[in-house]
Amino acid sequence: MALAKTMEPLLQGNSAIRKMFELGQEMAEKYGKENVYDFSLGNPVAPVPYEVKNAIISLLENQDPHEIHGYMKNAGYDEVREQIARHLKRRFELPYEKEQILLCAGAAGGLNVLMRCLLDEEDEVLCFAPYFTEYNAYVSHYKGKLTVVPIKEDNFSLDIAMADRLIRRKTKAVILNNPNNPSGVVYKEEELKALAEMLREAEERVGHPIYLICDEPYRELVYDDRIVPFMPGLYHNSIYLYSFSKTLSIPGERIGYLAIGAGVEDGEKLMRAATIAGRTLGFVNAPSLFQKVISECLEVKVDVGFYDRNRRLLYTELTEMGFSCLPPEGAFYLLMKSPLEDTEGFQKMAEEEHIIMVPTDGFGLPGYFRLSYCIPFESIESSLPAFRALWEKVKH
Ligand code: PLP
Repeated sequence: MALAKTMEPLLQGNSAIRKMFELGQEMAEKYGKENVYDFSLGNPVAPVPYEVKNAIISLLENQDPHEIHGYMKNAGYDEVREQIARHLKRRFELPYEKEQILLCAGAAGGLNVLMRCLLDEEDEVLCFAPYFTEYNAYVSHYKGKLTVVPIKEDNFSLDIAMADRLIRRKTKAVILNNPNNPSGVVYKEEELKALAEMLREAEERVGHPIYLICDEPYRELVYDDRIVPFMPGLYHNSIYLYSFSKTLSIPGERIGYLAIGAGVEDGEKLMRAATIAGRTLGFVNAPSLFQKVISECLEVKVDVGFYDRNRRLLYTELTEMGFSCLPPEGAFYLLMKSPLEDTEGFQKMAEEEHIIMVPTDGFGLPGYFRLSYCIPFESIESSLPAFRALWEKVKH
């Protein structure tokens, strides 16, 4: 077949998440859906807030269809950009203007646009393990190289000294995902301040800007009153990337935005480039109806209590059984350490109990599993006997 050579690795490596999801589907057909405990996919299940439906209906009933469904400026509707800028200004006390906002097709669309704008062949992007596996593809599409900073496994904090050592002249950007997929960690203000300090010094050393891409689709999903520091307030070259996929449980609608504030070096030029990249990559513009919908839902979010209940139940029960898990602080993922050296063997044992979890090797963290707890509470309850049986097997 005449596929591009560069596509082959993507075919081979087809995401561990998808593989496990497909396995879950196969097992559900064989054993019945209720007898399979599938923790593979991060597909939001918290109810979509009623404001979303109300906005859709009202827009469809009250606005000119050509206005709702037509092309607009590639960066998005002016009034939507204006509202987002005002929202950011109010919330984070930074002077965003509408010209600094670009609507994009979710965080994935925004990341691709940014990589297209920033990378020449062999340029490097740094990210911290564990990381969202798709970053590999987003960087390699534009012939860049993703360099991964290992995590400090003792407390899952950012290894800033190591990141410093890995920054080179070719480093154009750093991606920071907070709250983190797959660890559920929320990075703290002190370490983020230290990261900012390190990046400022690294910029001096390499002699060009190092953009910090703040990938924050889980910003609103945090527990126990945790605060996610707003990086653009701490580091001048921060590019804020937000998505409504998880906040409003609407990942299929593909809507998010980029904010490139006044402090960002060459920010205006970058914004112009991003607008063109969005068009030429074929996104053209972010989905029109949903630009308008989110502009009416900027203060709305799903019931975070929905995920919190799941989180508490799963974490408490699994740790009481004896599994070693990282206390989840944000997003909807729980990280479990493999109780056996033989991670694959452990995974097989879990599958025998019909438990589907994703090994985190592909996230840059071997020896762990990601459990996505965005499933109904009752499914978590009914999975517990299977986990107990699994623990019994592990012990022997
Ligand atoms: N970044 C991270 C860390 C994610 O976990 C995801 C999706 O799960 C994305 C980006 C892409 O999200 P979106 O649906 O907004 O494209």
